[in-house]
Amino acid sequence: MEIFNGRAATDEYMATHSLTFSTPEMTLKKFALWLGDQVNIPGKNKTVPRLMTYINDVKNQSNKDEFLPDTDDTFKPSGAVTDMFKDHTQVASANNCRNCSQPLKIASKFCPKCGSKQ
Ligand SMILES: [Zn+2]
Repeated sequence: MEIFNGRAATDEYMATHSLTFSTPEMTLKKFALWLGDQVNIPGKNKTVPRLMTYINDVKNQSNKDEFLPDTDDTFKPSGAVTDMFKDHTQVASANNCRNCSQPLKIASKFCPKCGSKQ
């Protein structure tokens, strides 16, 4: 079975393009156009849409999840905003350090920040 490796395509696009000054609409349009760019196949005198270079022949269908990008729309903080949302996700299931009030996992015996025993 042939599968479009969307994960590799999105990773490659994000590694080679600055998304800083783009709106989501622009990023989406530019990504779609980038996928459709005609590119040379190395060693062959032929061009194909870039999308075709991300088509993998996969024999085992069960591992297709590896190739599919995460299309789950629920918000997961990442990068610079991770810290901003960290407290909300930890408060429900965490204790705080007795010494420095650093949020800790329930099973923590030591504080990773100040090293004090819990
Ligand atoms: Zn501490």
